[in-house]
Amino acid sequence: MNTMTNIQTITAKLLINGQFVESTTSEWQDIINPATQEVVGRVPMATPDEVEAAINAAQDAFKSWRLTPIQARMRIMLKLQDLIRDNMKEIAHVLTTEQGKTLADAEGDIQRGLEVVEHACSIGTLQMGEYAEGVARGVDTYTLQQPLGVCAGITPFNFPAMIPLWMFPMAIVCGNTFVLKPSEQDPLSTMMLVELAVQAGIPAGILNVVHGGKDVVDRLCTHQYIKAVSFVGSTAVGTHVYNLAGQHGKRVQSMMGAKNHVAVMPDANKEQTLNALVGAAFGAAGQRCMALSVAVMVGESKNWIHDLVEKAKMLSVNAGHEPNTDIGPVISKRAKARVVELINSGVEEGAELLLDGRDVEVKGYENGNFVGATIFNHVSTDMRIYKEEIFGPVLSIICVDTLEEAIELINANPFGNGVGLFTQSGATARTFQNMIDIGQVGINIPIPVPVPFFSFTGSRGSKLGDLGPYGKQAVQFYTQTKTITSRWFEDTQEAGEVNTTISLR
Ligand code: NAD
Repeated sequence: MNTMTNIQTITAKLLINGQFVESTTSEWQDIINPATQEVVGRVPMATPDEVEAAINAAQDAFKSWRLTPIQARMRIMLKLQDLIRDNMKEIAHVLTTEQGKTLADAEGDIQRGLEVVEHACSIGTLQMGEYAEGVARGVDTYTLQQPLGVCAGITPFNFPAMIPLWMFPMAIVCGNTFVLKPSEQDPLSTMMLVELAVQAGIPAGILNVVHGGKDVVDRLCTHQYIKAVSFVGSTAVGTHVYNLAGQHGKRVQSMMGAKNHVAVMPDANKEQTLNALVGAAFGAAGQRCMALSVAVMVGESKNWIHDLVEKAKMLSVNAGHEPNTDIGPVISKRAKARVVELINSGVEEGAELLLDGRDVEVKGYENGNFVGATIFNHVSTDMRIYKEEIFGPVLSIICVDTLEEAIELINANPFGNGVGLFTQSGATARTFQNMIDIGQVGINIPIPVPVPFFSFTGSRGSKLGDLGPYGKQAVQFYTQTKTITSRWFEDTQEAGEVNTTISLR
């Protein structure tokens, strides 16, 4: 894997028909280390001809791949999970360099994707159809889960390992071919995983990669050969992709932005709860789609706010490669400016700033895009810090008197990605899980991302499309159910009467 040796000199390659090639484009973008501003590589904006070549390669390869036995597809995934495990540390190093998160978190990013590859190894049973014998005299009905054709995936910067691995392994193991468009901000770790996929034995044309921005994405959403588009990213772009690809007859899933709440009951285990809140709000510098944005303190739990702030003050802000770092930099100067601007708006709109991370200084990394842990109290639902996804280490606190008020508040928020409840009462937890209108619920778990035998089930404003990534829903997304109703005549069977009714006899 040449990308591992000297990442200073790297250009992100395209993968077209089994060949890693340098783009011929004149448009390139720097890949920047968010802790130092050093340029660590360059990414091309692929030309229309290159995108066309990638899609055509996938279209040609589908003809034979869809007929490749399930076990052969599965064995490639078995090999891939082995290779990812062996190369985990090197990929994590590159991921931290280009994305900023801590090394431990980078390994977590890869690990969560690796688990999807492991699940793809069970496709033999996951992709089975159904069979009903004797639905009429001599008639059987059964279903086939058939691959769709060429599928496309468009991924965000915040999980450059996990999210590409949500997509291409499941699509390919189901018998589809794939064109991946990684985030242009941190494509190098994604490309290392793609190299491993090729090394694992994915034949030419089955997996292709193009880099770029809006032009490339729009081409994928509108091309006649693309049958399905998986998108993960911001709400604005996700809505655009959903509409454009939908208008062009594609099957689409768009996993988008979030504003995740945790409700804290006064009977909760205080230390466990506060530790969980701090980790979920500030880990990965708040750049997780499942990061905690709003703590809803119910009743007397409002008395814990002081201790929550004290715990957040202990977090160490530093480059992701440094030992004991809790909060790394945010992805870009632009992202930092936006987070700071939103914090300013919170102050101007009257929220109480209990902890201010705007002016944090990190010795040795003075140019890094750092924002320290920031906490606001007395936040109201009309403030920008409540309404907008901040995607930085900023926690808003709202105090309410009852569980019912907390549920009403959370259900009124348009997003529906994740929510948590901290309590020691089973009855309270049961009421909450039943009444809350959010797709992923954690009970004493602050970031309830389901493991890959389930599916990612964000809902409402955080998702467009019915089926989520990975798990059984991904198998449904990447396959078309075909229903066969069949009757076989005995050669000796006598001709019956003409039947003009709809029913089978
Ligand atoms: P983004 O929307 O800016 O970019 C996502 C992808 O879209 C990238 O590949 C990018 O190149 C492409 N893109 C950007 N602008 C485009 C345009 N105008 N037209 C077409 N394509 C375009 O998102 P991001 O900043 O990379 O990622 C952060 C966002 O992703 C956050 O909102 C976060 O909540 C969300 N996210 C959601 C989930 C989820 O499962 N719901 C998971 C991870 C991240």
